[in-house]
Amino acid sequence: MTAARALAAATAALLALGGVAACSDGGRGSDPDKVDVVAAFYPLQFLAERIGGDRVAVSNLTRPGAEPHDLELNPRQVGQVVDAELIVYLTGFQPAVDEAVEQNGGDRAFDVAGVAPLLDAAAGGHEHEGEAGHEEGSGGRDPHLWLDPTRLATVGDRLAERLGRADPDHAADYTTRAGALRAELTKLDAEYAEGLRTCQRREIVTSHTAFGYLAEHYELEQIGLTGLTPESEPAPQRLAEVAKEAREHRAGTIFFETLVSPKVAETIARTVGARTAVLDPIEGPPAQGDYLTAMRANLQTLRTALDCS
Ligand SMILES: [Zn+2]
Ligand SMILES: [Zn+2]
Repeated sequence: MTAARALAAATAALLALGGVAACSDGGRGSDPDKVDVVAAFYPLQFLAERIGGDRVAVSNLTRPGAEPHDLELNPRQVGQVVDAELIVYLTGFQPAVDEAVEQNGGDRAFDVAGVAPLLDAAAGGHEHEGEAGHEEGSGGRDPHLWLDPTRLATVGDRLAERLGRADPDHAADYTTRAGALRAELTKLDAEYAEGLRTCQRREIVTSHTAFGYLAEHYELEQIGLTGLTPESEPAPQRLAEVAKEAREHRAGTIFFETLVSPKVAETIARTVGARTAVLDPIEGPPAQGDYLTAMRANLQTLRTALDCS
């Protein structure tokens, strides 16, 4: 073959490759060299990006600033679910995603709720002996598992296996990155255990009941203004109960969240003479840094609010 013919052949091969990619991606703009991962909301995006590294292209179904619980999917987003090579989601957290995965996910869906048994909705809650619990007793499961870093590490290990099946050539890379992330999450866990070991109080008054895993793992007790899903207007009776609890336990701080209006927390805080502070359930991307940054900011907030030494 002459040099000119070789060049022509190579060009034709490149054109053919480009053509194949253009056909297969259906206008998604995806990179044919990478595994297309769709994450349902931020902590799962964080995991997929950290473990996938430069081998994956991750998109998030929940746009920044949106409250993910009540996410609704537009046709373009359903298209993302249809086209994805791997969908990382959590059943019971976002009903619209559950439905889209059920209809279109096939065997490309990875449900992180299936990695380890979920806690009961009332876990990490706060009860007095001889009284009915504060939780509405829905008997449901708590989806907020990412707020226990040790659980998130285990989900990461399983995700690495799953990515390794989708992209066997790079399976070892996924395992390595999941191990590195596990080391960081283990360090974070140790900081929490140490930082929350000796505190004047252990009750946390939160906006919605998102912190059950954190409370369970670090022996705190959560008093939530609303249930597992944020509500803008909790029942007046619930507000009165929480105000009573906050007084009884001398809670100096009422927590509110980044993606939910602080109004109710502010009302309670005024009623009982407490401050408010942000405790981020990390359901959306943090304003600064990543999951680890937000968890460390939460730890500092908790240490101050609970007078930990
Ligand atoms: Zn939540
Ligand atoms: Zn109490």
